[in-house]
Amino acid sequence: MLKRFPPKPASLAELADYQVAGLKWTVSHAFNNSPFYRDRLTAAGITPDLITSLDDLRRLPFTSADDLAAGYPFALRAAPFADLVRIHASSGTTGKRKVLCYTQKDLDDWQNMFARCYEMAGLTREDRVQIAVGYGLWTAGVGFQQACEKFGALAIPVGPGNLELQITFLQDLQSTVFCCTASMGLLLAEEVNRLGLKSTLNVKKIIMGAERSSPAMLETMREFLGVEEIYDITGLTELYGPGTGLSCRCNTGIHYWPDYYILEVLDPETLEPVAPGEVGEMVYTSLHKEGVPFIRYRSRDLTRLIDGECPCGCWLPRHDRILGRSDDVVIFRGVNIYPGQIDEILTRVSGIGSEYQVLFDHGSDGRDYMLIRVERACNGEALPDEQVAKKISSGVKHTLLVSPQVELLDYGTLPRSERKTKRIFDNRKF
Ligand code: ZN
Repeated sequence: MLKRFPPKPASLAELADYQVAGLKWTVSHAFNNSPFYRDRLTAAGITPDLITSLDDLRRLPFTSADDLAAGYPFALRAAPFADLVRIHASSGTTGKRKVLCYTQKDLDDWQNMFARCYEMAGLTREDRVQIAVGYGLWTAGVGFQQACEKFGALAIPVGPGNLELQITFLQDLQSTVFCCTASMGLLLAEEVNRLGLKSTLNVKKIIMGAERSSPAMLETMREFLGVEEIYDITGLTELYGPGTGLSCRCNTGIHYWPDYYILEVLDPETLEPVAPGEVGEMVYTSLHKEGVPFIRYRSRDLTRLIDGECPCGCWLPRHDRILGRSDDVVIFRGVNIYPGQIDEILTRVSGIGSEYQVLFDHGSDGRDYMLIRVERACNGEALPDEQVAKKISSGVKHTLLVSPQVELLDYGTLPRSERKTKRIFDNRKF
């Protein structure tokens, strides 16, 4: 089905050999060209000739954001400066930005991966792609744009924010694809609805990156903008940027590109693979990356692998939506709660909007409590508050085995932002 940007291996059967070759190359390249990796691998007793099968992946040491911070700014670099053509940077966990450097081949590989996303989303060269994400140090804007040009569609690089200009261009240029964060998509949908402009737009598809979205947000975008398809694009700066996978049109998870990287899903505590279908941390090993190769990079993102054949007919493997970060897990009365689980529960409740907040705090009785604040639906069915609250409360109890308090608010009262919206607040003092 992928004709223009297909993976080199043509089936799952051919994939293993292709990945072994990439793994061997990566370990050898890292060992020979990066003092960091030479030390790290040597300490683990690894030399490149020891890598002969995919099972050997499990013998390799891990890398993490801490290694990027420790080696700032050109941490883990494995190519000479003469071969580097660009850097990107994203915020780091310890204050210092993560700086990643790219060779021309890295940029070419990235564009190929990203162009595959456009192909998989069913774009044609006739499409007009309005890009409403950040430019500059961020990988988002330039990633969306260069891949769009490589694919051959028309790029409209508006950049983030500026709702008025976004709407003007959507109308005047009749953009057919809108690329944004989920929060931006929601803001746009609500503004278009408020102004009654839906019939003047021609947006058929939305491609969203950088942020988890809930099905309720997607429904609002479909209804208010009249879009037919919404895709989630995955990626992280460490692994080129966005474009390393795309949600399936059958809504059965995210297909990812195993010809460019190996994805492991591991228990964050034991670092052993989780059982099939269980939630674990996404750990990446790049197969062709020159500037900064990654060996078993711990991303802190949580998801689960999805087994079996996809109804869309694509053999490329799948993982679930990103369910949160292992740093974001809230432990409440002994239960691990991932933000993505709250999204899933609220999606099954009618009569509410897409925006919510979850607050954790100590009560005056010394017990911890969990409060879920949700907006009533904008123009959905009007259900009694008590009934809606009960549905949410029993959903949480059923899934997470804890009982929350629920507060319903008028539509539009919770804060919105163009960037990531904070929804989980843990106010307990430890
Ligand atoms: Zn599929």
